[in-house]
Amino acid sequence: MEKKRHPSPSYQALIKAGPHLKLLQQVHARLVISGSGRSRSLLTKLLSLACAAGSITYARRLFFFIPNPDAFLFNTLIKQTSKFSFSIDSVLFYRRMVLSNITPSNYTFTAVIKSCANLSALKLGRVIHTHVFVCGYGLDLHVQASLVTFYAKTCNLSVARKVFDRMPEKSVVAWNSMISGYEQNGFAKEATGLFYLMRDLSIKPDSTTCVSVLSACAQLGAIGLGHWVHEYVVAQGFHVNVVLGTSLINMYTRCGRVNKAREVFDSMIEINVVAWTAMISGYGMHGYGTQAVELFLQMRAHGTRPNNITFVAVLSACAHAGLVDEGRRIFNSMRQEYGLMPGVEHHVCMVDMFGRAGLLNEAYSFIKEVISEKPAPAVWTAMLGACKMHKNFDLGVEVAEHLLSVEPENPGHYVMLSNIYALAGRMDRVEMVRNMMIQKNIKKQVGYSTIEVDKKTYLFSMGDKSHPETHEIYQYLDELMNRCREAGYVPESEWVMHEVEEEEREYALRYHSEKLAIAFGLLRSSHGMAIQIVKNLRMCEDCHSAIKFISVVTNREIIIRDKLRFHHFKGGLCSCLDYW
Ligand code: ZN
Ligand code: ZN
Repeated sequence: MEKKRHPSPSYQALIKAGPHLKLLQQVHARLVISGSGRSRSLLTKLLSLACAAGSITYARRLFFFIPNPDAFLFNTLIKQTSKFSFSIDSVLFYRRMVLSNITPSNYTFTAVIKSCANLSALKLGRVIHTHVFVCGYGLDLHVQASLVTFYAKTCNLSVARKVFDRMPEKSVVAWNSMISGYEQNGFAKEATGLFYLMRDLSIKPDSTTCVSVLSACAQLGAIGLGHWVHEYVVAQGFHVNVVLGTSLINMYTRCGRVNKAREVFDSMIEINVVAWTAMISGYGMHGYGTQAVELFLQMRAHGTRPNNITFVAVLSACAHAGLVDEGRRIFNSMRQEYGLMPGVEHHVCMVDMFGRAGLLNEAYSFIKEVISEKPAPAVWTAMLGACKMHKNFDLGVEVAEHLLSVEPENPGHYVMLSNIYALAGRMDRVEMVRNMMIQKNIKKQVGYSTIEVDKKTYLFSMGDKSHPETHEIYQYLDELMNRCREAGYVPESEWVMHEVEEEEREYALRYHSEKLAIAFGLLRSSHGMAIQIVKNLRMCEDCHSAIKFISVVTNREIIIRDKLRFHHFKGGLCSCLDYW
């Protein structure tokens, strides 16, 4: 820690100059002239302010000016470089400190480990972790918290958890590091689990905890917990700044509550482009294209400059709602009004938009004419989807073969190609594609669905038998599917491949994860309650059609968020109108 000094006039001059390079240099010049240019304490302060001013070069030059640097100087330097994200310098000064035989302190370790986390320097961080033990700081709370952050940020969650579990006393910072580590690495369930543990131990979450947990709820579609967190935020009187507000908007839209999201949005005092974009994208996900466009126009009128992500959100909303003219106008405004270059994602939205609207020729000429450089595979994938939707199999096969030649390792392309061959009746080719996949050992992604029941999230993968009530769930699902069949549901033919499955066709289709989750949800919820599910991949056509029937025979509303958008099933219809 900084020692108490009687501030000299020169010291006060430095404080007054603050983190402004020009002013600092002026004071430095005066110090040299007045003869105190070699004062260690003054130079250390100057150095610290130089880092804050963002001039690492100046700070480095000052450092070499100081003979026999001591622990205080090194600690100041390592802390300041770490704080202002000069992470490499921070690590280099640490190395120099160790080489100068100066023992690092807890203060040093906290700062340098943070730099390792920023650099994702796993090996180096591990070495420093051993130094921590050697120097006897293994039980220091601040050092431990920084190690948790470090391991979580470098995706070593099990090690992070080990360090975390061994902490005799856990600060909220440590809890936050561990929760956000889980959440940002896609382990949303673990993140919420830890949050429950925190609550059980009566540790008060702060607003940083809330932001992480809300993101986890968004991933899981866990509305019960998300709502609880919102109430907690209100009860605690946390200031809903733009970060917290945006995470609430994301949570509500991704949990199917667009109106609640809009309430939060309208109540926010400061709104930036990220918040506007979150709300626009929320409308788009639910197929509310008109509202998305309206909000986009409001944003412009408000004087907030849309960025590339905003354009993706609004264009995708146009695509899903069939707003071709608006979409075209907005796309053109990107370059003309805002000087933004459309990227792959914007091109994909446009092709998707034309394609969904049945304007295949327009989509094709957009690819050929508007996209000047080589179109990205994702653009062709959108084109392929359009061909499939509108049953133009000749063009579809052409596009699929092209895609496969560009990206021969992508499992999704094989599935698409196989399906389009199957639709075109070319069964010999379907077999060929399947053999190619086996030969090349190409694996499809594993799909799973989550459902929240009584504020607890359950995860199902295809053919999952891990649930304790598994027998009951399967029996009920079989019964349910029989009722659907009686109502006119015809299971999809066997040849259709999905992005998801590894196992046998019929079994696979029957027990897709979303069907299992629905069966479980129906069993465990009271009549009249809507069933809400999140699926990590795009829903297959068979499930989509089966769920329409389920919504009729059970007289329940079923809401599913898949990789692309929301599907609200009610009375045998889906809000996506079968275009998704
Ligand atoms: Zn399915
Ligand atoms: Zn749908």
